[in-house]
Amino acid sequence: MGLMLSRKETEAAAGAFDGTWRASGEELEVVSPIDGTLLQTIVTASGQDCDRVIAAADEAFGAWRLVPAPKRAEVVRQLAEALREAREELSQLVTREMGKPIGESRGEIQEMIDVCDFAVGLGRQIGGLTLPSERAGHRLMEQWHPLGVVGVVTAFNFPTAVWAWNAALGLVCGNTLVWKPSSKTPLAAIAVTRIAQEVLERNGHSGAIAGLVVGSGKEVGERMIRDRRVKLVSYTGSVPIGRHVGQAVQERFGRSLLELGGNAAVIVTPHADLEMAARAIYFGAVGTAGQRCTTTRRVILHETIYDQMVVRLKQLYAWTPLGDPRDEASLMGPLVDGNSVLVMRRALAEAVAQGGEVLHGGELRGDLGPSYATPALVAARNDMPIVQQETFAPILYVLKYKTLDEAVALQNGVPQGLASAIFTNDMREAELFISEAGSDCGLANINAGTVGAEIGGAFGGEKETGGGRESGSDSWKAYMRRQTTVVNYSGGLELAQGVTLNIDGDATE
Ligand code: NAD
Repeated sequence: MGLMLSRKETEAAAGAFDGTWRASGEELEVVSPIDGTLLQTIVTASGQDCDRVIAAADEAFGAWRLVPAPKRAEVVRQLAEALREAREELSQLVTREMGKPIGESRGEIQEMIDVCDFAVGLGRQIGGLTLPSERAGHRLMEQWHPLGVVGVVTAFNFPTAVWAWNAALGLVCGNTLVWKPSSKTPLAAIAVTRIAQEVLERNGHSGAIAGLVVGSGKEVGERMIRDRRVKLVSYTGSVPIGRHVGQAVQERFGRSLLELGGNAAVIVTPHADLEMAARAIYFGAVGTAGQRCTTTRRVILHETIYDQMVVRLKQLYAWTPLGDPRDEASLMGPLVDGNSVLVMRRALAEAVAQGGEVLHGGELRGDLGPSYATPALVAARNDMPIVQQETFAPILYVLKYKTLDEAVALQNGVPQGLASAIFTNDMREAELFISEAGSDCGLANINAGTVGAEIGGAFGGEKETGGGRESGSDSWKAYMRRQTTVVNYSGGLELAQGVTLNIDGDATE
């Protein structure tokens, strides 16, 4: 917690940053899900604070967009270095504030570093095409320009990495940022913003380039999504709020990048390495206490291996090292708060009422702390309403299939379209799964689980997951505006499409 406590008390407690730390909203008590202890009380951003932070980021954009992209990338390179230095401290903070096991928090901070490294190379690659012009003596080309202020609204489950995905690319692309983190995880956001501030200021740039507003979705979130100065809203969160955000941003013809809920499934065929599949499914379902957008929520088992796989999954579930996430031996920690445990319990009751059967787990573990529960395995049908929803908790629904076509239809038969996987050593089954007739998801893996995407690929999903793509590949294009340019160096005026302009004489009359 040194990153927080080594700062001056007043500064550490302010939930708004526009180059200086000051906030005038309500107080927010940040409580650890590990044991319910109060970590810190911070003053959140008011609506006016939010306006001020956006205005400062907008002003800072004027200068930042003129810095050559490779020089902006150098700042991001230094950000990666600073994150490397703070890696352990930040990991401990994420675990204390959000409750994920310490090994996973280290992975999250590593992901921030990796995406910064990736973005450094982009600083020399975010170029456009030069295309053949149909007119002699003309050049036709595309340019990519910075957008302006990018609003980054993040979910609690990746309190730092999602910002880094947006920030590293957004900064290299010449944009400035205003980050609205989840009110469940503001301390990690404050710590990371401080690191970005130091790096920016050390390089002679305004800290307002990496603005921050901690506050409720209703107050500061709403302001941000409706503010015309925020050219792109990159929103990561649940489907219902994402639907609202997408519509509000569209109403003012702003841009949105939506990374919403998932309902990932894994198909296991009779030709799979069953032990490998069981381990991948188990970690995919139980890791981060089932609180990842890519969490494995459904497993679709061929009828001939169903019983064997259920026995193995039950063994793994019973083995689960559940406990204090700061303890290296814990594979699963608490859910983010007591409400999430209630939501999980309610979902299990609904599953039973809809014809499901709890095969294992789902019990409260009040002896460990206020928000611990054992992961649950539930025999279910895909058409049960509760299976169609994303319950952000460690519940794995077990489904049965006869033919691969049926399995693919089950996998695709939900409103969300983020992550999917098949375990098989039969190349025909594998190829079908990733063909146009296969998985309809943004991520489709063969013999690899649904969680733990690499930053080098574009990340995101279809249908109610929102269609956004972040992180690797050409995702940077979402953070820039494309400009198509014709340069005429012919000395004459020639119109496109062969159109002629017949002007008689000097056409003065
Ligand atoms: P959430 O939807 O409750 O909140 C997400 C963010 O939206 C928070 O910062 C919240 O304060 C803000 N918000 C709330 N109302 C708002 C409004 N009216 N305007 C603007 N912002 C508003 O989600 P959560 O519980 O923090 O996170 C879990 C959800 O996020 C799950 O559905 C999960 O699948 C999803 N998620 C998706 C991805 C992805 O990449 N697809 C990644 C992580 C999490």
